[in-house]
Amino acid sequence: MHELSVTQSILDIVLQHAKGRKVQQVNLVIGQFSSIVDDSVQFYWDIIAKETLAAEAKLHFERIPGEMTCNSCGHVFHPGSETFLCPSCESNAVRVSGGQEFQVDSIDVE
Ligand SMILES: [Zn+2]
Repeated sequence: MHELSVTQSILDIVLQHAKGRKVQQVNLVIGQFSSIVDDSVQFYWDIIAKETLAAEAKLHFERIPGEMTCNSCGHVFHPGSETFLCPSCESNAVRVSGGQEFQVDSIDVE
């Protein structure tokens, strides 16, 4: 159900910026480490956007890679799927420093 509230806030932002114009496309940015499932967002969107000016808007998801920072040497890297070890010093003292975002990048209106 997490996606429902997220989708609702996206719709609020979109309608606010559309200022009464019809929305054609919504460009969203979704990070690799974001817990958002884009299929679910699309599913809820189809339901809640129905009676609004954004009813026919296409959702476009741009995926951005996750980013981690090594606490030992400060190296910033994009982790692969198998390992989160620092590629520079092989430390496992790393933290997520990017790729958790989920936001509206822009909208296209008529
Ligand atoms: Zn390191």
